Amino acid sequence: MKFFGFKGGVHPPENKIQTENQAVEVLKAPKMIFIPLLQHIGVPLTPCVQIGERVLKGQMIADSEAFLSVPVHATVSGIVKKIENLPFPLMGNVQTIVIENDEQEEWAELSKIPEWQKATKDELLQLIRAKGIVGLGGAAFPTHIKLNPPSDVKIDVLLLNGAECEPYLNSDNRVMIEEPQKVVEGIKIMKHILNVNTAIIGIEDNKQEAIDVMKKACTGTGIEVMPLKTMYPQGGEKSLIKAILNKEVPSGKLPSAVGVVVNNTTTAAAIYEGIVNGLPLIDKVVTVTGKGIKEPKNLKATIGTPISELLKNCGYIEEKVEKVVMGGPMMGMAQLTLEVPVIKGTSGLLALTKNETNFCKPKACIGCGKCVDACPMSLEPIMYARLAEFSQWEEMAKYNLMDCIECGSCAYICPANRPLTEAIKIGKAKLRTIKK
Ligand code: SF4
Ligand code: SF4
Repeated sequence: MKFFGFKGGVHPPENKIQTENQAVEVLKAPKMIFIPLLQHIGVPLTPCVQIGERVLKGQMIADSEAFLSVPVHATVSGIVKKIENLPFPLMGNVQTIVIENDEQEEWAELSKIPEWQKATKDELLQLIRAKGIVGLGGAAFPTHIKLNPPSDVKIDVLLLNGAECEPYLNSDNRVMIEEPQKVVEGIKIMKHILNVNTAIIGIEDNKQEAIDVMKKACTGTGIEVMPLKTMYPQGGEKSLIKAILNKEVPSGKLPSAVGVVVNNTTTAAAIYEGIVNGLPLIDKVVTVTGKGIKEPKNLKATIGTPISELLKNCGYIEEKVEKVVMGGPMMGMAQLTLEVPVIKGTSGLLALTKNETNFCKPKACIGCGKCVDACPMSLEPIMYARLAEFSQWEEMAKYNLMDCIECGSCAYICPANRPLTEAIKIGKAKLRTIKK
C-alpha cells in the first residue's frame, strides 16, 4: 500500500526508548479504589449500588439511560465505602464510588459470546456496551456507538489506530507486541459487526517490533498492517484517514462521511476480552515515565488506582518533578493532585522535570505562519489567539474552531511561545456556553 501522509504535523522528541522494551508488569490493586462516574464522552452515570454494599469484581456499579454513555464496573471485590464528589483527572470534581478492596478477587458472573460469529450485530453491540468499552486512544467515545453508524451510511474500511504518535507513550505499542492475537480477534469481531472486508492497522515506523509482530499475527486473516512515517498527530482520526487512504473528511463531519470507522488497537483487544472472555474494562496498560521517574515502566493498573501508587512503584523523585501529566506531553492534562485515579482513557503518566517542560514566557507574535503550516486540520491558530484576546468567541467559530482536535502542534512549533492551545480550549468552552 502507498503511504500518503497528512498535511502539517510536527516531530517532537520521541522519548519512547525509556519504556519501549519494558514488558508490561501487573500492579497489585490497592486497598482503596476510586471509580469516577464519567469515564466516557457523554453524560455522568447514576450509581446502582449503595454505601455499605459488597460488590464483586466485574459487577456493574453505575449506568445511565442516556444514548451517549457506557457503564462502569467494580474493579475489585469489596465494600462500597463512599459515593461522593472527588478530584477527577480531566478537571474538577466528579461523583466517584469508593470501594475498599477485600482482596478476595471474587468475580461477578460474566456474560460472554465465545462463538461471536453466530451472534447478531445487535447482540454484539449490546455486549460491548455492557462491558463499558470506550475508545482507548484518548477520546473515550463509547465504542458501541462508533460501531453502529446510521443505516444510510455505507462503511467500506475499518482503520485501526496503532500509531501512538504522542511522545513518551508505549501503552498501545506494548499491547500490540504482547497481545497481538487479542488485537486481531477484536478486529475480526469489529469487521463482523460493520460488515466490512477491509481492515488496515496503521503503526508508526518507530515501532518496528509491533509492526513485525502484528504482520505475523495478521497472516492469512486479510487484515493489512501499514507502517506510517512517524509524525505527530498521525493518530488523529482525520490524519490517519488521509495518511492511509488519501481521503479528506469534510469540515464538521465524522469519518463515516467517507466510509471509514477508526478504532484504536487496544480497544480491539478490549473488545475481544469483553466478547470472548466476558471481561469488562477494568484495567489499563499505563506508561509511567519522565525524568522524575527512576524506573520507567509499562504497568497494567486496575482502573480506580490512585496515580500516586503507580508513581511510587516506578520510583517517583518528588523533588525533581515540575509537573505530573496524565496522557502524553502534547495532549495530556497536568494534574493538581496525585490522588486522582487511573481511568479507562489513561495511557500514560509523565513525571516531568523543569527541563522537560516549556515554561518560557510568551512573546509577541512575529507572524511567521509556522502555526498555520503545522496545523493538520488546515486551521489558522494565529487567528484564534488574536480573537480570544478580544473575547471574540463567535468570530472564532467562523474560523472552524470546532474542527480543532487540540493536538497542540501549533503551540509546540510557535517560536514566540504563544499560548495557542489554551486560547483554543477557552474559545471552545465559551462557545459551548453561548450555544446552551
Ligand atoms: S489549531 Fe488545533 S488542530 Fe490545529 S495545530 Fe492547533 S491544536 Fe492542532
Ligand atoms: S507560530 Fe507563533 S509567532 Fe508564528 S505566526 Fe503563529 S502565533 Fe505567530
